Amino acid sequence: MTDVSSSQLATTIDALRRALGDDAVRTGDTIGEHSTTDWTRHEPTRPAALLLPRSTEEVARALSICYDAHQPVVPQGGMTGLAGGAIPRAGDIALALDRLAGIEELDTAAATLTVRAGTTLQAAQDAAAAAGFELALDLGARGSCQIGGNLATNAGGNRVIQSGTARDQVLGLEVVLANGAVLSSLGKMVKNNTGYDLKHWFIGSEGTLGVITRAVLRLHPQRASRHTALVALDGYDAAVALLRRLSQRFGNDIGAFEIMWPDFYDLGVSWTASARSPFADVHPLYALIEHAGFDADDGGERFGTALADALEHGVIRDAAIAQSVADARALWAIRECTAEFPARLDPINFDVSLPIGEIGSFVDRCRAALDRRWLGNRTYFFGHIGDSNLHLTVDGRSVPGVAHDDVYAFVYEMLAPLHGSVSAEHGIGLLKRAYLPFSRSPEELAAMVAIKRALDPHGILNPGKVL
Ligand code: FAD
Repeated sequence: MTDVSSSQLATTIDALRRALGDDAVRTGDTIGEHSTTDWTRHEPTRPAALLLPRSTEEVARALSICYDAHQPVVPQGGMTGLAGGAIPRAGDIALALDRLAGIEELDTAAATLTVRAGTTLQAAQDAAAAAGFELALDLGARGSCQIGGNLATNAGGNRVIQSGTARDQVLGLEVVLANGAVLSSLGKMVKNNTGYDLKHWFIGSEGTLGVITRAVLRLHPQRASRHTALVALDGYDAAVALLRRLSQRFGNDIGAFEIMWPDFYDLGVSWTASARSPFADVHPLYALIEHAGFDADDGGERFGTALADALEHGVIRDAAIAQSVADARALWAIRECTAEFPARLDPINFDVSLPIGEIGSFVDRCRAALDRRWLGNRTYFFGHIGDSNLHLTVDGRSVPGVAHDDVYAFVYEMLAPLHGSVSAEHGIGLLKRAYLPFSRSPEELAAMVAIKRALDPHGILNPGKVL
């Protein structure tokens, strides 16, 4: 753990100004609210300085100075993280990648996109689409989150069922290490078995091992047709049966399989101006399903037939198929109401994972246990079930006086015997650090500490996060 005096800090900031220029180093009131906390709005804290480097070389110069001074540095992307990973402490220096943005190259032969870390996910998706490709990563924060942040958190999102997590989209990575050394592995090859695959150490490391500056992303052929349906189900077992049925029939063309329990669904419908439930009745469970294929002439008949078969065989209760892009957006708006959580709830968010077959009974037991413990709690269950990922959000306003940590511990203790994970996609950051041992053995934790010490011996990169 580093301990920097205020005079040392002032000397370091002066050195950073000389190295990067005055306009790339902000202090005091010139640091906006945006840099003080992430989407969780957890304890906003103004960092001692905010760095805005424009190139890999500037990131390297900045880190080299901070390394020599044992000065803690917090990498910051779009600040949409949901684990507090980018929140600075008062003496930390924040290093934001906003100015290191833009597409460097789209290689149509290799089907790769080389991007700078500060590029928003949306900008990268648009660049891929303009060239007839698809960047398979997609999530609700696409307009603000950055590729660097997506990779640092190994983000999941809506299309994992089809194309994997952020990790699976990366062929090459450039990272600046704590001491300022640039580790450039910007290869475009799919196969490369020359020793350790170092990029995977940094993907998902939440800024604790290095600062990601550039990436070579794998592109996929653009899906030519997309059809979206909202389906009403009898319960969780029916949802799994439907998932398996559709996977058998369409394989990798199932692009999303999102489950919403009724409390969540009702919330989404009531908050969304463009949405109304297509069903007259209330149902035990809802699934938002996307079929994304390569046949431009596919008008959705095969998908519609598959759902009609499922209806006939009693696998589903009802279905509404979007007839237009606007219809599809309205259905997605119900699922993406989570963007409103910080403004409308006091959200205590969970993004756990556990074997697909056990999620339904876990939800039932968890809901019953929460009700026994905190009568009147409002808890919303939803998730990317095809990826074994369950989200639940307890509205802190419905459990007044209860510490968020008590709620976290209560749910994670239920998860531990099932060998589930306390984070399927948002990461450990600051908020889940105490709960990492619920999901990782002492031996795994010791290996993580050894890697951290080897790459960041002064412990300057994002201290207090993950480990
Ligand atoms: P930040 O929040 O700025 O940082 C996140 C972490 O990455 C921090 O630890 C930070 O230090 C580190 N970091 C950032 N940039 C770098 C870099 N260049 N080098 C090294 N470390 C870095 N997440 C999902 O996985 N799936 C979802 O479906 C999903 N949906 C979301 C929907 C909404 C509405 C919101 C607000 C968030 C959602 N998230 C989701 C969470 C969030 O968007 C992701 O975690 C995203 O990947 C964070 O990117 P960011 O650029 O905002 O990173």
